Amino acid sequence: MPRPIVASISISALQHNLAVARAHAPGARVWGVLKANGYGHGLERAMRGFAAADGLALIEPDYAVRLRELGWTKPILLLEGFFEADDLPVLAQHDIQFAVHCEEQIAQLEAFTAAASLHAHLKMNSGMNRLGFKPEAYRAAYARLQKIPSVASITLMTHFANADDAGNLLLPLAEQVRRFQAGSEGLDGPRSLCNSAADLMHAELANDNDWVRPGVMLYGGTPGGGSAADFGLRAAMTLESRIIGVQQVPAGEAIGYGSRFVADKPMKIGVVACGYADGYPRHAPNGTPVLVDGVKTGTVGRVSMDMLTVDLTHIPGADVGSQVELWGSRLPIDEVAYAAGTIGYELMCALAPRVAVREVD
Ligand SMILES: *Cc1c(COP(=O)(O)O)cnc(C)c1O
Repeated sequence: MPRPIVASISISALQHNLAVARAHAPGARVWGVLKANGYGHGLERAMRGFAAADGLALIEPDYAVRLRELGWTKPILLLEGFFEADDLPVLAQHDIQFAVHCEEQIAQLEAFTAAASLHAHLKMNSGMNRLGFKPEAYRAAYARLQKIPSVASITLMTHFANADDAGNLLLPLAEQVRRFQAGSEGLDGPRSLCNSAADLMHAELANDNDWVRPGVMLYGGTPGGGSAADFGLRAAMTLESRIIGVQQVPAGEAIGYGSRFVADKPMKIGVVACGYADGYPRHAPNGTPVLVDGVKTGTVGRVSMDMLTVDLTHIPGADVGSQVELWGSRLPIDEVAYAAGTIGYELMCALAPRVAVREVD
């Protein structure tokens, strides 16, 4: 007897969104990014949804091996590369490609003398200042990699900070592209630049490069919090539950822990079987959108571990047993995330293991 909370994962939505990513950049090959357990959708389900991708990209070396065990034969890429020298024989054995972003990784590759055919993705720090070689150090890193006998190919790679934010003046997308081009000019190798935001909003740039690396859009989320429907994307995850209790609350009484919400009139309050232990954000303020029987309402009071409370005053038909959508096909995850001061990515990734998952087409 499970709790009424269920996450439905739509494989056809994953397939559809992959096709949207490809349609934006028909000239590029597509890495389907499925790090973090397929952004919370399940590694194996994401793998099946992205069967038409040219490769799968992720962060976790053990999940990369798992993809091979699950039968994935096309390329696999580790976006942060390997974390220790001992990973290298395993990556070689399973033909797993990897990013190279620091001197230490190059030194470990130089010391790895086994016969192997490795595919490196040399990462440039074109301004984000997370991983990668500075543009002025890039050429030297490339030359070092080129001399390593086991390195069979080098892809040129960078990552954008603000592809979803045309107004960003600190680090405009065009400046990152300019630095990347200057630092990699004349170097041989496929180019891999674009995440979802660049694929969706800068299709020319995406199409002009050899590979794109969409992630969140494949799950029906948008990078900048814009409307997924406007981009023709479909929600892959729908989180639903039910009303398990109803309270008539007189004016002046408070609801939940900390008594954060006080009824300013007589109110009908519904208790939903969904809490922060299911992955719902505890910091969601009053009024975070929720659908009850298809009608939009909002949360009232603090989200607790296993429950949250919603206003049913204006939904006379709602009662114990009413259907609740927390986010998904009818209530965009980005809308809920925005109200809660976060991003759709965080909500989908945080889906808790205790939530039952149902696969739908
Ligand atoms: C996660 C990731 C992506 C995908 O980013 P989205 O914003 O989800 O499209 C692409 N490239 C790298 C290096 C990443 O780490």
